[in-house]
Amino acid sequence: MIVTLKANAPPEAVEFVVEQARRFAGVQPRVHRFVGQGGSVAEVHLIGDTQKVPEQLFADLPGVRRVVRVSHKYRVIGRHGRGEAEVGFEYNGVRFDESSVVLCAGLCAVDTPEHVEIMMRELARNGLNCTRMGAYKPRTSPYDFQGLGRDCLPWVFESAGRHGVKVIAMEICDARQMDEILAALDLCGGATGVMLQIGTRNAQNFELLKQAGQQARLPVLFKRGMGITLEESLNAVEYVASEGQPNVVFCLRGVKSHLGEPHRNLVDFAHVPVLRAQTRLPVCVDPSHSVGRLRIVPDGLPEIFHAAGQGVLVGASMVLVDFHPDPHHALCDGPQALTMDWLPRFKNYLERVRACYEGILASDLPLKPENRRDLA
Ligand code: PEP
Ligand code: MN
Repeated sequence: MIVTLKANAPPEAVEFVVEQARRFAGVQPRVHRFVGQGGSVAEVHLIGDTQKVPEQLFADLPGVRRVVRVSHKYRVIGRHGRGEAEVGFEYNGVRFDESSVVLCAGLCAVDTPEHVEIMMRELARNGLNCTRMGAYKPRTSPYDFQGLGRDCLPWVFESAGRHGVKVIAMEICDARQMDEILAALDLCGGATGVMLQIGTRNAQNFELLKQAGQQARLPVLFKRGMGITLEESLNAVEYVASEGQPNVVFCLRGVKSHLGEPHRNLVDFAHVPVLRAQTRLPVCVDPSHSVGRLRIVPDGLPEIFHAAGQGVLVGASMVLVDFHPDPHHALCDGPQALTMDWLPRFKNYLERVRACYEGILASDLPLKPENRRDLA
């Protein structure tokens, strides 16, 4: 059972709900907090045998907005009737929610200070303040470039800070790497921020998921497991959220299809609306790791544009995409990187697709809330 308090409810109101919950044997209350657009929202989750707990008792308590009975599934990340204002979060001055699209363009893997500098400079020039920079690379072959690791963190963070880049999506494969990132952020005086990326290869690394959930400072970008069901991936995110870190973005990046060609992975962006209906997580799409190559189709646009557009047209709130100033010399995933000259065009393309989606929402096409019930 989830007891949601009104936005900015006083701590005493939350404590009172917790006290009442403790009166029921076998029930454990756990407090979660979300910072939505309307302010801070506290939820008290009643875990255990809640069958005999009357909903009305909690609904009548001061400061309580809603009581919902949920199955154990997706308790923290599930939508459970939560409104739009409870989707997403703010981190380091950047909002990740359904009201806009955050473009997170950057290097798949950090290689040289010059390339990092060019990337950051071009982001700033295009009015962008989020990026991706892989320092720790989980590679299929042990003989491939494994990333520069913690050694590159000081100059990557310094360059980001100097160019006003606020959030860097950075993959971790191990909890020690998380500590290295936190230490490097402290050393650079919080010049920038990091969103911890859990890659597809670690989608069911439950210890890593729990450890990412136990730290409160950095949000998490979870990439869908490439060979597991969507339900399994959502349960994996619940590991992060239930440990205490509710600020997670769910990233679709294609799934293995065993068919190989033409794309590296089968593009799964039609699942964006599924995730939006089931969860309160902002949804990201990664057209680079799903399409896996830079091919320009007869209309003059790269396939990666079209794939990203598919996600944005159905309400994705973030796009993670590989760029590189010199893809031929990139040490990881060069063939799928867009060159810098595509950056303003990619930004413009996403703005146009988003405007198209907003136009559809503002038209008379969507059903009005009062007519939706039968079709849910
Ligand atoms: C990446 O984003 O660099 C990456 C390795 O992605 P994925 O985990 O989706 O393969
Ligand atoms: Mn990559």
